[in-house]
Amino acid sequence: MEEGKEFGKGWISGTASVSLAVIGLMAVFCFHFPSYLTIPDVRAFYPVPWIRLALHLVLVSAFLLGLTSVMLRHNKTLGMVGMGIVAIAALLGGSRVEIDESLQDDFYLGLDYALLILIVYSLIFIPMEKLFGRLKQSVFRDGWRLDATYFFISTMLVQLTTYLTLKPAFVLFSWAQFPAVQEVVRSQPSLLQFFEIMLLADLVQYWVHRLFHQIPWLWKFHAVHHSAEVMDWMAGNRLHLVDLALTRGLIYIPSFILGFDEFPMYAYIVFVSLHSVFIHANLGFHLGWWRYIFATPQFHHWHHGAEEEAIDKNFAVHFPVLDMIFGTFFMPGKRWPKSYGVHNETVPRSFLKQLFYPFTRTKRSDL
Ligand SMILES: [Zn+2]
Ligand SMILES: [Zn+2]
Repeated sequence: MEEGKEFGKGWISGTASVSLAVIGLMAVFCFHFPSYLTIPDVRAFYPVPWIRLALHLVLVSAFLLGLTSVMLRHNKTLGMVGMGIVAIAALLGGSRVEIDESLQDDFYLGLDYALLILIVYSLIFIPMEKLFGRLKQSVFRDGWRLDATYFFISTMLVQLTTYLTLKPAFVLFSWAQFPAVQEVVRSQPSLLQFFEIMLLADLVQYWVHRLFHQIPWLWKFHAVHHSAEVMDWMAGNRLHLVDLALTRGLIYIPSFILGFDEFPMYAYIVFVSLHSVFIHANLGFHLGWWRYIFATPQFHHWHHGAEEEAIDKNFAVHFPVLDMIFGTFFMPGKRWPKSYGVHNETVPRSFLKQLFYPFTRTKRSDL
């Protein structure tokens, strides 16, 4: 007989145990291989003693949650796996691994960055979704493993994605940079520059996004993003790497030409990542008239709606006014979509199959 997943059955504690144990084990790997698993520019800023303490607490919590699951659940697998991973992390040195100082920085994966973002975002968004969630759903809902895979792969590939974002503008548009123009741009207050970056980025994003919907070949890359059937703070990570690289590379071009200051640029990078998590999150906010000015979960959830009326609507990610201007705005009162996902198309459900999905032969219109 299949055991339940509700509270008190040991499934939540078991899954939380495995998740925390995996996070802890990955942090132990970061301590062992800082050269290959941490970002060179940020290594020096880490408060290592505090990280060791946090890692210790994570491993202890994972162990205790595993134990809880073993006691509550008839099937002991989850709890045992959680405790087993904690044991491996402990055998590998746990929070006491010595750091090898001989570092290289030619090639690295941002595992440290992924863990940091995961911790910060889960601390912000999990309680928010519990308090203000539109739908009652678990953090470990259907498809969470796939979204977590996307999260880890695209975040760890930060060196590659940064290169693919910056390089095309540099190679193709260096001729379009004029020092006199850039000086005027940089002489503006940072806040104004920030809003200009946001507006330009969303304007480019709007059209790139719309083309991803309208050109059948491009759609197959973007269908991966729309294959999410549950919306929450993790769902937005489901983006094909080509979709991610192409969109970011094109968005960066106007900002590169105009040469904004570093501070508003970095502020925008932090903001856009938070805002995109926010608009996918399971949050029942309506925010009054603000929702016409600024993209809210309701606005972007309609973009993901599975029903006919939601198709090809709300392409903007910051400013709904872009959709009003270009005729694609859709936000019917306080109504929300009934379900999410792709209309009349079956997108595979594993990372690798989705990676190759755009190169397979089914078309949107065939189905
Ligand atoms: Zn879309
Ligand atoms: Zn989305």
